Amino acid sequence: MLVRGAHLLTMQGEGVGYVADGAVVVDRGRIVAVGAWAELAGEYEAEQVIEAPHHAVLPGLIDAHMHMHLALLRGLAQDTRNWMLYGVGPFVPHLTAEARLAGSKLAVVEALKAGTTTFGEYGPQLEETCRFMAEAGVRAQVTGFIREVPQEMSGFGPRDLYPFDPNLGEKTLAENIALFEQWHGAADGRLRVLFGPQGPDFLSRELLLRVKEVARERGTLLHVHTAQGERETIQIEGRYGTRPVAFLDSIGYLDEQLLVVHLTDATEEEAALVAQRGARMILCSGSIGIIDGIVPPARAFREAGGLVALGSDQAPGNNCHNLFNEMKLTALFNKIRARNPEVFPAWQVLRMATIEGARTIGLGDEVGSLEPGKQADLITVDLRHPALSPIYTEPMRNIVPNLVYSARGNEVDTVVVDGRVLVERGRVLTVDEASIVAEAQQHAEFVGRRAIESFQAVGGPNARWQAEGRL
Ligand SMILES: [Zn+2]
Repeated sequence: MLVRGAHLLTMQGEGVGYVADGAVVVDRGRIVAVGAWAELAGEYEAEQVIEAPHHAVLPGLIDAHMHMHLALLRGLAQDTRNWMLYGVGPFVPHLTAEARLAGSKLAVVEALKAGTTTFGEYGPQLEETCRFMAEAGVRAQVTGFIREVPQEMSGFGPRDLYPFDPNLGEKTLAENIALFEQWHGAADGRLRVLFGPQGPDFLSRELLLRVKEVARERGTLLHVHTAQGERETIQIEGRYGTRPVAFLDSIGYLDEQLLVVHLTDATEEEAALVAQRGARMILCSGSIGIIDGIVPPARAFREAGGLVALGSDQAPGNNCHNLFNEMKLTALFNKIRARNPEVFPAWQVLRMATIEGARTIGLGDEVGSLEPGKQADLITVDLRHPALSPIYTEPMRNIVPNLVYSARGNEVDTVVVDGRVLVERGRVLTVDEASIVAEAQQHAEFVGRRAIESFQAVGGPNARWQAEGRL
């Protein structure tokens, strides 16, 4: 396969690796050459040529943290304090396994069309989701939930320490191991499985350490919600007399094997410590902004030498699985937090969605940039959309800021994973988008009816505004 693009953003080197009128040569799923068209055109005979004469060609985007199984709850849970309780709380018990799968399919199609090629799904019972992602042709790094705290927590006050149910811990660990055995390395190596202690407060110290050992023996990573907020801090202080980051450090958890997600409640010093220990961070700007009204200390993390990937998290919070949205919010929020427009420039944020994201989640040798030896995961973006026009290339260049600050994802034309075209002229080729949207709608009606009572009983802001006819 030969991809000819007017503007390549290879992500090679320290910046975006811009090449004008460039080509990417792919053989059996792997990139064999990248460079100027004039130099490569005569060298190769291609079976398939993708012409991108008005396009940017860049690596596929990496969404490192997602709960796609909640996608049917899109738009139902925002604008409230205490999101777990008042936001998603009334709805989650009504999501059946079929509804979770229908939501996951919807989210895969949504994100794929917007240029996501690596999917970091994190959730319960992911076998069917893995099967679907294998069929859709995407790359995925999935994580099972491991927890000892029961789902049903009514009757506990905010300062009461949670009970642990060791049977639940054993069951969820066994499920994550089974997921690993079935899917790690499957779909020609496109699928990988990580281990997911849900948070430092959701497991006993003993089980946390056991899961780390289980993951280490299998040569895979841990993916843990960390410093998520007051609830977690109260639990960890109550049990161990210290804050979550210090607790994880005290048990030797902070190292290269660990991906921490959120750090919502971490101080800049705590974030820097996590980075210095070699752990990596996943930043979910849209989700944490909407759910908590907070900008996590990603700048301190990066300044301490840490790697950061981006994540869309979930639709009942962030409302969408779209890395273009995530890039813009990440740049904006961090500029606002720092009160400094020079931090998080567009080119750095684009690197976080591509090469830095890939390195963060352990895929830096395989994807994240367009260079020989890597798997051919790439997208083309049509720059003729009004919001991406006009284009300047010489001597000043505006393509990267336009992608980060203006693009919405619908400008993505072609999506390739492992050298296979999954989306062509904005249309998904591998799965049936219309039936997936219809199926999601059918399940949503059922979930909506089942949840009426708990939605009204909880009586959050949305229930009030709807009763008053404002929303
Ligand atoms: Zn999460």
